Amino acid sequence: MRFLLDGMLGKLARWLRMLGYEASYENDRADHDLLSMAKEGSFILLTADEELYRTATFRGIDSFLVLGKSEPERLAELAGRYKLRLDIDTANSRCPKCGSPIKETAKENVENSIPPATFKVYKTFWVCTNPNCAKVYWQGSHWTKIEQTLGAAKKILDHKPTNPNR
Ligand SMILES: [Zn+2]
Repeated sequence: MRFLLDGMLGKLARWLRMLGYEASYENDRADHDLLSMAKEGSFILLTADEELYRTATFRGIDSFLVLGKSEPERLAELAGRYKLRLDIDTANSRCPKCGSPIKETAKENVENSIPPATFKVYKTFWVCTNPNCAKVYWQGSHWTKIEQTLGAAKKILDHKPTNPNR
């Protein structure tokens, strides 16, 4: 299952990547590029644009109209429709910035890429496997916020029966 997201859904692309899903996103892709990419690459097209959604559906492209206003709402909608797991498994997680897989790395490998205070406090680090990105991750103070957002999404999902026609 691979997703292609329109230019309005950059945040959602980052979430999908963290959850381990392939999510292609660039903020300046034209609608006709999105449509041909989705068709040729067998992507599921996620869009907040009703017209684009209608065109995609008309052309037989698997498309989903994202209506939620907040990230938890959007995640809950998608999880309901595509049976996504709303938990981050660091073994399968992807780099939110570029979408490549991340892998755990020895602490000494990242010493020069992160602030000294971070190096001192945290034990486990992950690095993006794309050499052009190579971003380093750790479960810092932002991690609580990530878990809260996923928790909120799960709550919405639990309270809403999923409609198979959407
Ligand atoms: Zn990356």
